[in-house]
Amino acid sequence: AIELSGISKSFGPLRVIEGVDLVIEKSSRHAVIGPNGAGKSTLFHMISGRLDVTSGVVRLFGEEIQNQKPHRIARKGLSRSFQITNLFPRLTAIEVLTSAMLWPAGVRYDFWSPLARLRDLHERAAAMARDLGIASTDTPSGLLSYADQRALELGVAVASDARVILLDEPTAGMNRDEARRTRDLILSTTEGRTLLMVEHDMDVVFGIADRISVLASGRIIASGTPEEIRRNAAVQEAYLGAEEEI
Ligand code: ATP
Ligand code: MG
Repeated sequence: AIELSGISKSFGPLRVIEGVDLVIEKSSRHAVIGPNGAGKSTLFHMISGRLDVTSGVVRLFGEEIQNQKPHRIARKGLSRSFQITNLFPRLTAIEVLTSAMLWPAGVRYDFWSPLARLRDLHERAAAMARDLGIASTDTPSGLLSYADQRALELGVAVASDARVILLDEPTAGMNRDEARRTRDLILSTTEGRTLLMVEHDMDVVFGIADRISVLASGRIIASGTPEEIRRNAAVQEAYLGAEEEI
């Protein structure tokens, strides 16, 4: 679904990403791991359009998308999470999900037909909020717990029918139970979609990913199945050795 070819990124003299080649297969759940400052978020920003590439090509479903505006890329079916949740804090969960359904990724917005479907959409949004385990569907979403807000964000990706979902550290700042709930939600909501995820929690990574790439100092140093990555000596040395959760 996503193909990176020779991607590099510099901030002034600082070279952060160096000639990254990476293929994210359609319907795979692909995790990028690596130490702090490796360039993981920068890589994500170049895929979602928040940062221009210095050189290289990004393809989404075969189409070149590097250096396009984020909303154009989103319309092609890509949804990304934000480290700081980026919902409309005054809308309730149902309102947030309903709005996402009204504007499905890649579909041209038709003002009138959704109005006729509002009641149906409202019911679907309520069912979805229930499935997401969101504690309250009639309080402003900005007042929901952090984990509920992350769940709602996944709901928005599903409601807008994103084909590709990018998650940057989806369980950061969560306790064990919240991280498990989020892991389960990621598994259910990304079913049949393509997931690209950056995550530090190795329980979450190995519980979700079917493919793992390791980024260190702006280069992919290994890519393979979870088993291959677990056994990779260079990866152990460069990164995994520091994680007691393995
Ligand atoms: P973490 O695990 O801490 O989130 P990361 O792998 O996501 O790290 P990035 O945020 O991509 O790392 O940053 C990679 C490097 O690029 C870091 O050295 C960072 O300081 C640098 N960097 C990121 N954004 C900028 C910027 N806008 N200007 C200059 N340097 C930047
Ligand atoms: Mg980061």
